[in-house]
Order: sequence, then structure tokens, then C-alpha cells
Amino acid sequence: MSLRLRLFMAVTLVIVVHTVVLILLLVEDTREAVSRTQEVQGAWMGKNLATSLANPLITNDLATVQSTVELMFSEQNYLQLAVLDDRGVAIIDLKPDTQKIKPDVPDWFITYLNLSVEPSISHINIGGVDYGQIIILLSPRVLIERAWDEAKGDAMVALAMIVMLSWLLWVLMSIGLRPLDKLSAAVQRIGAGDFSARVEKTGSREFGELISVVNDMSQKLHALYEERRQAEITVLKLNEDLERRVEARTAELAIANKELTHQALHDALTNIPNRTLLYERLEQAIIVAKRERKTVALMMMDLDHFKEINDTMGHHTGDLVLQAVATRLRNVLRQSDTVARLGGDEFAMVLPGAGDKDSAILAAKKILNAVQIPISMEGRNLDIGASLGIVLYPDEGVEASLLLQRADVAMYAAKRGKTGYAYYNTDADRYSVDRLALKSELRHAIQNNELVLYYQPKIDFSSNRISGLEALVRWQHPRHGLMFPDDFIPLAERSNLIKPLTEWVLQEALRQSCVWHADNMPLTVAVNISATNIQDPDFIKSVADALHKTGASAKWLELEITETAIMKEPAVAIAAIAELNHMGVQLAIDDFGTGYSSMAYLKKLLVAKIKIDKSFVMDMHSNNNDAVIVRTLIGLGHNLGLSVVAEGVESTEIWDDLKTLGCDSAQGYSMSRPIPPDKLDEWLRQSVWGFKKL
Ligand code: C2E
Ligand code: CA
Ligand code: CA
Repeated sequence: MSLRLRLFMAVTLVIVVHTVVLILLLVEDTREAVSRTQEVQGAWMGKNLATSLANPLITNDLATVQSTVELMFSEQNYLQLAVLDDRGVAIIDLKPDTQKIKPDVPDWFITYLNLSVEPSISHINIGGVDYGQIIILLSPRVLIERAWDEAKGDAMVALAMIVMLSWLLWVLMSIGLRPLDKLSAAVQRIGAGDFSARVEKTGSREFGELISVVNDMSQKLHALYEERRQAEITVLKLNEDLERRVEARTAELAIANKELTHQALHDALTNIPNRTLLYERLEQAIIVAKRERKTVALMMMDLDHFKEINDTMGHHTGDLVLQAVATRLRNVLRQSDTVARLGGDEFAMVLPGAGDKDSAILAAKKILNAVQIPISMEGRNLDIGASLGIVLYPDEGVEASLLLQRADVAMYAAKRGKTGYAYYNTDADRYSVDRLALKSELRHAIQNNELVLYYQPKIDFSSNRISGLEALVRWQHPRHGLMFPDDFIPLAERSNLIKPLTEWVLQEALRQSCVWHADNMPLTVAVNISATNIQDPDFIKSVADALHKTGASAKWLELEITETAIMKEPAVAIAAIAELNHMGVQLAIDDFGTGYSSMAYLKKLLVAKIKIDKSFVMDMHSNNNDAVIVRTLIGLGHNLGLSVVAEGVESTEIWDDLKTLGCDSAQGYSMSRPIPPDKLDEWLRQSVWGFKKL
């Protein structure tokens, strides 16, 4: 219930109570008036009657008494009219029919008036003698009816007043409480969150102040609310933006991740699985085969003479060959088989559910047939050969790593035996275990001075004197005996051991050159470096360190690098060679004629020498083709202003031929095989070739 209604009802109640009390008081007045009027009237009429009846009573004229009293009784409203004689005996006692004199008002009004009407007694006294008495009891009927009418009128007036007052009150309250109402409504709206609510300033001063406070508060709340709403909108926008960016980034990352995962598990050149994925697939296949009691064939394949393709036709052609082989393998095998490139020219295949040994061999033959179809490249048909090793799960092992190792063993057996394929057998394993162990042994060998440098002299044609020596590394293996570079340099190149190996060779060779110089033998020393070395950004520093540590002069050092090594990353090689040249170190191109180097590059390379490959030199005396090639190469070198060295001079005839062709110097078994360090000093002193001044 609203405050206004409650207030109104309270005030109205007060008015009603007041009015009722007023009416009650009025009725009380009426009651008293009625009683008093009756008494007075009764007394007055009794006195009149006593006068009228004095004579008839004295004369004892009872008939007159009777008629007088009856006449009076008929005219007036009496409840009783009696005349008693002097002894108190009733001469006449009249009482009317009560029904006739009942007032015409509601009973409750009569009950409420509760009138106690006393009879008035008048004595008939003449000359001091009492002749009797008159009892008169007047009816209050008329008075009651009049009182009723008055009460009704009063009640009507009171009711009208209540209505009037109430209406007036309502109007006054409506006007007086309007600001409060507005205030209350405004506060309610504010409470409901509508901070734009304002109240018009009306009413009293205090009220005005209150409204000001409310308006102020509302304004502040509104400002706060707006600020918060703006902040919320900003946060919402930022959130949306962030969400969008996170989504975009997540999508990008997912793609990048997928790409990275693909890259991590695939070979970049052929886009087939790499060693990691092969291992995973093999393990998976083993799990399935174990459950289904089936076999898995693992095959490892290595291309024959791939190095030759790479060396003679360039690495680009080599890459194309590898890609073609990958495609062929993929095509010849089932979708469920895995073909992977393990690196270099090595591939592996996992064939789940391959059946027995015979079925696996059949599959291997199919693979080899597919690989051996000549590949047409640059207008030439290239013959590709391969050696393939086979193992079966569970026959040759139940673990992926052992199966891989044994497939490798079988592959090497196939290569050695030139049989195309070979199924694993334990006998072949002995050799292979040694081969696997070699890597860790080589690391140890570099650190423990198991490596030895042999030196092969180069002889200058013009002076017939020794001009320098080439350092050729050997490995004095505790079990295998003296090992030649072809048996461990490729391993070192594959396993990053080439860096420490070259550093060791550089230091040892320079140390040796210092000994010669101290001994008045001014000889240059040539060191062979690999492709990996020339591409290593730290290589220049390694050379500088070796020079610094040994105290050798840069002039005493010559570095030999093959064309193929240069062509792997020509730009890097050209820059490195330029820097070495700047340091004072001389460069020679080794095995010249076997790789493919364009004239454009040759001009850019700051090299001093070319070394014609021994494969052309060794047979040049008997093979005219080779002789032509050697002549051309010498001419080419001279045209570029380079000194030309011939390698593989095995006879004096070749020596003579080369001398005729104008070759600058020669190296070969004819003059000397590579000399072990302990024999070197003796050889240098006793040699017919003597020394040539630097
Ligand atoms: P290369 O640089 O062409 O070295 C010349 C190779 O030809 C040597 O074989 C040498 O013994 C051999 N040779 C010399 N004269 C004749 C000859 O008249 N007839 C025949 N048939 N062969 C001759 P070696 O010492 O077995 O070295 C093989 C290859 O190993 C070297 O070929 C070189 O590429 C590499 N190599 C040797 N030492 C190192 C080294 O310290 N570091 C690196 N990275 N490679 C090296
Ligand atoms: Ca060499
Ligand atoms: Ca060579």
C-alpha cells in the first residue's frame, strides 16, 4: 500500500471517529431533552386536570370525572392516565393499546435511547383538603420520532462532511506529495538502473535540496554507469578482437605446425617419409603384426655408383635421379607400405603383411626391376643400379632398431656381393658391426692421435725439383690396421666428424711444415678439405687458429677442394675462397675435370692451381681420348692463368707426355707414393728431386 493511501486512510478514520463521537453526544442530549420535556409536560397537564376535576370530585360527580378524563385521554398521547380518591383507590385508570403508540423508528434506536419515563403525580387539593391524586404517564413517541429525524439529519451532514473532507484531503495530499511521488519514482528508476532519471525541482526548500542531492547522485551514477558501459564495450571489442586474432593465429599455427610436422617427418628433396617417420611406421607395423600374427618386411636400399652420377653430372642431376627413384618406389609398392629416404642415396621400405621370406624376396626383385629401368636425363639414358637388404619381422628380430640394423647389414652384403638383393644372414653381420662401430671409434681416433699424415710430393717440371707435398690422412686402426681415407672420410663427412678431423689434419700438416722450414726445406703443404668444411662459417677461423698455434706462415699452406664441393654452394665457396686467398692461403681445385664447373665460376674463383684428376692422367699414354682431355684441361688452366698439376703419374712416359703438353707439375706413384712421416725426412734428403726455393 502506498504511503499516500495509508496517510489518507488514517486521516479519514480520524474524521469518521470524530463524527461518530459527535453523533453519540447529540443522541445523549436528545435523551435528556425527551425525559425532561415529559416530566414538565406531565406535571403541567396533571395540574390542569386537577383543577378541572376539583369540583366534580367535591360534588362526587364521578360521571363528569370519567368523561373529562376520557376526553383528555383520547386527545393526548398517554401511556397511563389515572385518578385516585383520597384513600388512593383508583376512580379511573386508563392504559392505551401499546401498539398504537409505538414510535415509527427502528427498534435499535429506541433500545439505544433507553428512556426511563417516570409518571408524574399531581394532588387534587382544595382548601388544604386532599381529594385525591392524578397519575399521568405521557408517551415519548413524538419526542422519539423527532429525535430520530434529528439524528438522521445529523448523520447525513456528518457523512457529507466526511466525503467533503476526504476529497479535500485527497486533493491537498495530491498536490503536496507530488514532488515526493516524483522523487520516489525517480529513485525507483535509478534503482532499476535508469540513471538518466531527473526530478523537477518543486515543493519546499528542504524538498528542493533533497531533490538536488538525488539528481546529483543520479548524475554521478549516470556518469559512472556510462564510463563502465564504455569500458565494457571497449573490453568487449578488445576481447572480440583478441578472439579473432587468437583464432587466426591458432589457424596459422595449426598450418605451420602441420607443415613443421610434415617437414620434421619428411625428406625435403623427395617429400617421402624420413628416417624418423620410417621408424615410427615400422614400430606401428610391428604392433599390428604382433596382434594379427603376421610378418613385416623391412628393406634397405642403396643406389650403386650414385656418387659417380653426382660427380659427373652434377648434384642437380643427382637430385633428379633421387626424386625419380622415390617416385618409382612409391608406384611399385602398395598404399599401405612405407617408402622412406634415410639420407644420401639410401632408401628404406616397410611392407606390412609381407608373407614369408620368398614373398619378401619376390617383392624385392620387383622393386629392383622398377629402379633399374634407365632414367632419361639431359638427353642421356642413365643406368641406375641398387643393392637391397631384406629382413622379416619376427624372424630376424622383434624390435625396430635391430631390424633396421640387420637390414643395413643385408644391404651391405648385397653391395659387396653385387647380388642386387640379399636376405639377412648372421655371417654378414660381423663385418657390419665393425662398420657401425667405426663412427664412435673415429671420434676417439681423432682425439687420441690414431690418425697419421702421409705426404706425397709434387714435382715441378721446369726445375725437376719438389715444390710441395700433399698431406693424405691415414687411420692406424688398432684392429683393422692402416685404413685409407676412402674407408672413413665419407663416414666423417656424414657424421660431422669432418670438422675436428680437418682441424687435426691442418694443425698436424702445418706443424710438419714448420719442421721443414726450420730444417731449411722450404716446402708448401697441401691439405684436402671437404664440401662441409668450405661451407662451415667457422672454417676460416679454424685455419687462422691452426696457423696461429703452429706459427706457420699462410704462404706455406695450400688447400685442395674438389669442383663438386665448390658447386654445392657456389656463392658460399667463392666468398670463403676469397677470404682464404686474402689471408695468403693458396687454393687448388682437386680432381679437376670430373665435376661440372662452368667457366663463369672458374673465373670468379680466386684459385692458383688446378689438379687434373688421375682418372684422365693414368691412361693418357694408351688412351687418346684421355690424352685429348688432359691437353684441353692444361690449355684451359693456362688460359685462366692457373698453374696446372697432373695427378696419378704412374710412369715416366706419362711424365714425358705431360712435360711436352706444358703441364706445370706432377704427382704420382712414379715419383713417389705417399710417404709415412717417419720415412719422410730420409726421403726428402735422399731424393733425386731436391728442393725448389719458394
Ligand atoms: P686425392 O686428393 O685425389 O688424393 C690423391 C689420391 O690418389 C691419394 O689417395 C693418393 O694415394 C692417390 N694417388 C697418388 N698418386 C697416385 C697414382 O700415381 N696412381 C694412383 N692410382 N693413385 C695415386 P688416398 O691417399 O687414398 O686419398 C684418397 C682421397 O682421400 C684423396 O684423394 C682425398 O680426396 C681424400 N683425402 C685424403 N686425405 C684427406 C684429408 O686429410 N681430408 C679430406 N677431406 N680428404 C682427404
Ligand atoms: Ca687432393
Ligand atoms: Ca685428386
